[in-house]
Amino acid sequence: MAEDYALPKGELMKGKKGVVTGVANHQSIAWGITAQLAAQGASLSLLHLPGMERRVQPLADSIGVTSLAAADVADDASMDAAFAKVEADLGTLDFFVHAIAFANKDELKGSFVENTTREGFLRALDISAFSFVDCARRAARLMPNGGSIVTLTYLGSERAIPNYNTMGVAKAALEAAVRYAARDLGPRGIRVNAISAGAMRTLSLAGISGGRSMLAQGRALSALKDDTRMEGVAGCALWLLSDLGLSTTGEVVHVDAGFHIMGLPDDAGA
Ligand code: NAD
Repeated sequence: MAEDYALPKGELMKGKKGVVTGVANHQSIAWGITAQLAAQGASLSLLHLPGMERRVQPLADSIGVTSLAAADVADDASMDAAFAKVEADLGTLDFFVHAIAFANKDELKGSFVENTTREGFLRALDISAFSFVDCARRAARLMPNGGSIVTLTYLGSERAIPNYNTMGVAKAALEAAVRYAARDLGPRGIRVNAISAGAMRTLSLAGISGGRSMLAQGRALSALKDDTRMEGVAGCALWLLSDLGLSTTGEVVHVDAGFHIMGLPDDAGA
């Protein structure tokens, strides 16, 4: 949680303007990133799912962010209106954070082959992967001087993780989209990267069957024997979104306490 640790303060984002999507509550990864960017002097606009105002407004107030807009990424009209508000509030953009994912609960448990439906598969891909392409297009049009775009992914794109199922396929599409967008937008000076975060206690994790066990096992199987911490994820976002990240694009950076490098658990063969 952003308020559980001292945010490094500074001026790395001073003079930079950008958008963060995906704040649902104080545990959201997007909120940790928002708080870190604000502590480094960024001017921010928050795009949230319609209906989340009651939760997002007090968080925005707590760090002096006044630009908020509701946007459902599955609804083009609401995206048009939200980006018009962003342009009116901020003008041009230097950065954009995509922290949005959704799959039906029924598709996040049990057998991938038996439980994946056409409707659920397309919805997960639409909201979790196509929305990134749509956001990148809209954000890039507001970045005449270059910029940086970051999205959030998970190891379930590369490895078969129990219950992650359709979302793993959506994250694989998302990571491929990052590489294509990086190639496409590179000549315009726009960098595009993903952060592959380890399991963290958020609303999204609660929607996955066995989410708690993903947390405990992620810690036990990690190289650092630690949870993935918000400080680390927000710090990585700060690197990628600030000028510290110059020359890095098309990358998927793992911030998971070293979970992804491990092969067998420590007691294997004991
Ligand atoms: P979260 O539930 O706080 O954030 C997900 C956000 O997606 C919410 O704000 C929700 O409102 C938004 N959203 C869903 N459908 C939407 C729609 N149609 N239009 C607009 N917004 C919509 O959970 P989180 O864990 O902070 O998730 C943020 C990102 O991080 C997601 O992409 C998630 O897959 C990724 N991620 C999470 C973990 C984890 O363990 N929590 C690990 C790696 C990656």
